[in-house]
Amino acid sequence: MALGKCKECGRECAKTAKVCPGCGVANPVKGSTSALVLGLVFVGLAITWIVVTSNSKPSSAIASNPVAAAAANPIGAVAEVGLSGIYKKVCDDAVEQYGIAKRNGTPIDACAHAGMVAAAYLQAKDEPSYAQWKKTEKADCAKAGTPAP
Ligand SMILES: [Zn+2]
Repeated sequence: MALGKCKECGRECAKTAKVCPGCGVANPVKGSTSALVLGLVFVGLAITWIVVTSNSKPSSAIASNPVAAAAANPIGAVAEVGLSGIYKKVCDDAVEQYGIAKRNGTPIDACAHAGMVAAAYLQAKDEPSYAQWKKTEKADCAKAGTPAP
């Protein structure tokens, strides 16, 4: 938990604290820390997602796969690959998995994976692709007889 000094009493308190535990002043730590905290949470989620999804891959893929390398060494690899590179890889992987599900799985699989692709593009903030995949999800889910979430 990141700590900061209260602007009123100087006591150390969490930057996310709504009120100072010492003097009770509202928003005791100045600055746009909420955006920073959100950013860190976001990075953490991205790394968690990558670690979880890459655990199913053989470790020999690490050398040639920047995302697997990111899982092996999250902090260094994030700096090396860059977040946009990771998002792109996440999106590419999701699209690839959708293709496999579409070819081999049930319509419900295709529906679920289209939703995952849409979620990946949402994380990457790729609005046109997100909108496109939401349409795909809706169509696939309609075929599966399952309403899109
Ligand atoms: Zn205070």
